[in-house]
Amino acid sequence: MAVRVTPERRGQARKDEARPTPPPAAANGSRGARTVHAQPMHEARIGRCSRPREACAEKSRRRAARQRPAVPAPVSSGRDSTIEFRSVSVGGGPQEGSVMRLYLLDLGVMQPGNVPVPGYLIRADDGRTILVDTGWPRSFVDTPRNPPGLSIEIKPEETVAARLAALGLDVSDIDYLICSHFDDDHSGNHDLFVNAELVVQREHYELARSGHPRFAANRAAWDHPSLRYSLVDGDVELVPGVELLETSGHVPGHQSVLVRLPVTGPVMLAIDAVMHSSMADAATREMFVTDMDDEARIRRSTRKVSDIAEARGAALVVYGHDADQWATLRRAPAFYE
Ligand SMILES: [Zn+2]
Repeated sequence: MAVRVTPERRGQARKDEARPTPPPAAANGSRGARTVHAQPMHEARIGRCSRPREACAEKSRRRAARQRPAVPAPVSSGRDSTIEFRSVSVGGGPQEGSVMRLYLLDLGVMQPGNVPVPGYLIRADDGRTILVDTGWPRSFVDTPRNPPGLSIEIKPEETVAARLAALGLDVSDIDYLICSHFDDDHSGNHDLFVNAELVVQREHYELARSGHPRFAANRAAWDHPSLRYSLVDGDVELVPGVELLETSGHVPGHQSVLVRLPVTGPVMLAIDAVMHSSMADAATREMFVTDMDDEARIRRSTRKVSDIAEARGAALVVYGHDADQWATLRRAPAFYE
């Protein structure tokens, strides 16, 4: 079941950007409590569709023709704003997964060091398409907002929309957008995915919506009024073969993704829980300048990534921003299956 989050006015988002971090209790200001309406997925889809009726009906027919199995039933906690997907079934082997392909998307680099900014596309054998993260804002192709000491380089063919197009997909074809977190190298183009169900950890979503300045500059992209979010708490299996793992540390409510591929086996997308192979040892890893949570939480999540990767026999752990590893990986249009 999906949750539709009632969008707020863009003007309010701008106001949030300009002010310093408000205490959480005051975050919604005069808006009152954030309203979240649970409603059946088909209602949410109809409610947000702005395309001509015929086009929408045609897409619905195509979707139905895929005869996809039902999404795992969420378990209601009793709170109207809470949706929890079914817990991950620990120990599931790759043969259980229905995922067919994993594409690693090059969404530009940061200099010095050719530091990659990845996105990930998962194509399930039932036809569903799942995107993980969307890279820096597409406006950075022409006018990057470089953080101190960094130079962002994105070629026109490296935007997420261009990468999808090269694989024969339109942004409207994406069924789920998994949001690892809202840093702007990961959420810069979320506003393109108005047809998708965006899935994020509740803790992260609520922190960002509270107006935290770290996520304010890019808020227009991830808090766009047309977007539809589902909030999850902890580890969940989104669809068979795609597991979301809560890995707070880099930011509260960060999530990593375990993809069970039929041939390769499990692949762990650590994302920014473990940005580089040199950070993979929980006991010895150094804190990174952009790590926001307390050290204990960062180490706990680093350990969680390596423990689950080992327990599941992961064939590969993909680190979030590791130039040396990235150069060795199979990147789109090639794929893992
Ligand atoms: Zn990052």
